[in-house]
Amino acid sequence: MPVTHQEVWQNCLSVIRDNLSHQSFTTWFQPIVPVKLQDSVLTIQVPSQFFYEWLEEHYITLLRKTIRKELGPEGRLEYSIIMDNKVQQGNGEPYTIKLPTANKRATQNDFVPMPIDLNRDNAKEIPNPFIIPGLKKIKINSQLKENYSFENFVEGECNRLARSAGFAVSKAPGGTAFNPLLIYSNVGLGKTHLVHAIGLEVKNNFPEKTVLYVTVDQFTNQFIDAVKNNSQNDFVHFYQMIDVLIIDDIQFLSGKERTQDIFFNIFNHLHQNNKQIVLTSDKPPVEMQGIKPRLLSRFKWGLSADLQVPDLETRIAIVEKKLYQDGIEIPQEVVEYLAYSISTNVRELEGALISIIAQLSLNRKTITLDLARQMIDKFVKNTTREISIDYIQKVICDYFNLPVELMVSKTRKREIVQARQLAMYFSKKLTKASLATIGLHCGNKDHATVLHACRTVNNLQDTDKQFKTYIDELEKKIKL
Ligand code: ADP
Ligand code: MG
Repeated sequence: MPVTHQEVWQNCLSVIRDNLSHQSFTTWFQPIVPVKLQDSVLTIQVPSQFFYEWLEEHYITLLRKTIRKELGPEGRLEYSIIMDNKVQQGNGEPYTIKLPTANKRATQNDFVPMPIDLNRDNAKEIPNPFIIPGLKKIKINSQLKENYSFENFVEGECNRLARSAGFAVSKAPGGTAFNPLLIYSNVGLGKTHLVHAIGLEVKNNFPEKTVLYVTVDQFTNQFIDAVKNNSQNDFVHFYQMIDVLIIDDIQFLSGKERTQDIFFNIFNHLHQNNKQIVLTSDKPPVEMQGIKPRLLSRFKWGLSADLQVPDLETRIAIVEKKLYQDGIEIPQEVVEYLAYSISTNVRELEGALISIIAQLSLNRKTITLDLARQMIDKFVKNTTREISIDYIQKVICDYFNLPVELMVSKTRKREIVQARQLAMYFSKKLTKASLATIGLHCGNKDHATVLHACRTVNNLQDTDKQFKTYIDELEKKIKL
């Protein structure tokens, strides 16, 4: 008959281990430390409140059974929770809260304080450790914008696949082959809008599901805070409890290795538990750089769908929808002129429309096509100065004092190869051209060569200071 708390817990663990996947066991049971055994009550220490809730929610039956098996029908379990915020303790000692036995649910039933507050300004607010939160309901701020709904998202050929995949996901989050669902496009084409729409629709269909939208920047900052506060566990556990996790602009994970690692863990956990992951990026996985291969391969598991530049009819419909929402009428010819003139980016289209509406309300007169033309032309000039591949090549050749013909020649001289690689790199970075088009313009190379060039330039600028200076100076010149 075992007598110490360690022995009792070891025996429990050997039963539990046989009943769980390796992953669940290491995640949820290995971190537990037995602390004492008194009058058939075993006290175990868990790393956080979330951890406790998770155990109670998912493993209560198993725990109850094993404890009774070890300690008899009187056997009970108590938890000691290490609080995240040591400041509150004053001494950094683990904080013991006596909780009901594992077979009783805690009662308070509405608000679970998040370990990492999304609103960084409030991050210092300390949850009251004496409130044992409810186990079922987790209220978090989903950060979804109401007006970025499916209803307000105009459907067109340009977004058909992405939109319908998004819609399918919101009908059955985690239950389709589209996991993760990755939406990619250039800026201003509706990625952020579409993923909000998915989140909103999930909440409509499944009010009990926990949905969270975060940008990679928010995610990264929270993680950095968690590292500082030594609360990585809570950070991970918090994210592992989300049902639908939406992360915007994952290209900004590039080069952030530790954030990628933590995200990798979260991703795996969610995916294994059939939770939905929705991502956006400015390029498809095959063209992403600075992302570790194992994470990149996950991005390819589900569906990657792109958003293209909307055609004229869709642009007109977008403008009309916006006008309708705002209850504003402008002449059809103005709508058409606007949609015709601004063709590459929905955000700019909206920007121009807003400035027309502003004019309208300032002058209180109807807008004529002439007036609209003047304004739109000004707008187009200011916003859409296109940088061409030829222009980039010219700036680079000027900078290194090379004749521009060498760019497209077959020569393999080192400085010319490097100049060519730089031209490919900047063309990828600063134009909307595809890899294939860039290759064609830079000495008739294929897309793989361009990709290789981009990687080489990225690697060099990380390791070679002189080279980095070239790049910074060149970028300034090209953008001038
Ligand atoms: P991205 O995240 O791709 O940069 P956004 O989602 O921020 O683009 O979209 C920019 C703006 O264009 C937003 O105000 C969005 O509502 C609008 N928009 C983009 N596509 C559509 C569409 N298909 N229907 C309605 N509005 C759209
Ligand atoms: Mg966006």
